[in-house]
Amino acid sequence: MEVTFLGTAAATACPMVFCSCPMCSAAWKRGEKDLRRRSSALVDGDLIIDLGPDIMTAAFDFGADVRKIRVWLQTHAHSDHFDAGHLITRWTDYAPEGLRPLDLAASPETVRRMSERLSLEEPGASLEKAEWLERLKLRVHPLRHGDSAVLSGRLVTAVESAHDPGALLYVVSDSETAFLYATDTVRLTDRAMDLLKRFRLDLVAIDHTYGPGIRGGGHLNAEQAAEEIARLRSEGILKPEGLAFATHISHEGMPPHEELTEYARARGYGIAWDGLRIRLPLR
Ligand SMILES: [Zn+2]
Ligand SMILES: [Zn+2]
Ligand SMILES: [Zn+2]
Repeated sequence: MEVTFLGTAAATACPMVFCSCPMCSAAWKRGEKDLRRRSSALVDGDLIIDLGPDIMTAAFDFGADVRKIRVWLQTHAHSDHFDAGHLITRWTDYAPEGLRPLDLAASPETVRRMSERLSLEEPGASLEKAEWLERLKLRVHPLRHGDSAVLSGRLVTAVESAHDPGALLYVVSDSETAFLYATDTVRLTDRAMDLLKRFRLDLVAIDHTYGPGIRGGGHLNAEQAAEEIARLRSEGILKPEGLAFATHISHEGMPPHEELTEYARARGYGIAWDGLRIRLPLR
């Protein structure tokens, strides 16, 4: 399994438009790993987690042929994770050619909210209407906490997140490897931890929205992300040699990438960057 981080920023991207804070100023000056697109990840080139607003610039920069995507897991419907403008282009009015069916997994609440957003692109468009699913060549797999589906040969398991009603985290696994994508989230719930005990994870990507000492709603800060990673390791869910990477990184209280990486290394995890590719199993 190969995981590519297409974007590693929180909702505002980094730098944030109009902001001159020390982090955003450093990002403008340094570029490279301090420039972060909105969070999204690609598995094996054909499974995307979150159809976010920045996936096309990521595709251009990292050579990801998004036409090959067959499976789409949506964590939730917030605008930094779902761009209805990308989805509507599957409709014949946009003259797409060579479309192959796409399997979408999301919670029923998320499907409803995505439909509301889609209807702003085209009145009446909905992911809850058979005629529109046919127009968009989509197959929707509604998943709730604990549900699994085999999609394109991999097992996808939905894990609840207390970030927002209906928000899901996903474990993508095959016979050899397992990867947990855990943004957006707060502290993992007891139910989530119980479910995750079924797995021995090789890789975790975890919410790291705020920097050390910054408290914000609905997300983890640096200390909290480190605690969650330590919990996953101590429960034996994350393999001893398994990797943990922070993603969904905002500008708030965040030092530049190199400094943040030093902070994280001392606490047993890494900081993802846009374009980071990880091959599993780790050898
Ligand atoms: Zn988000
Ligand atoms: Zn800023
Ligand atoms: Zn969110």
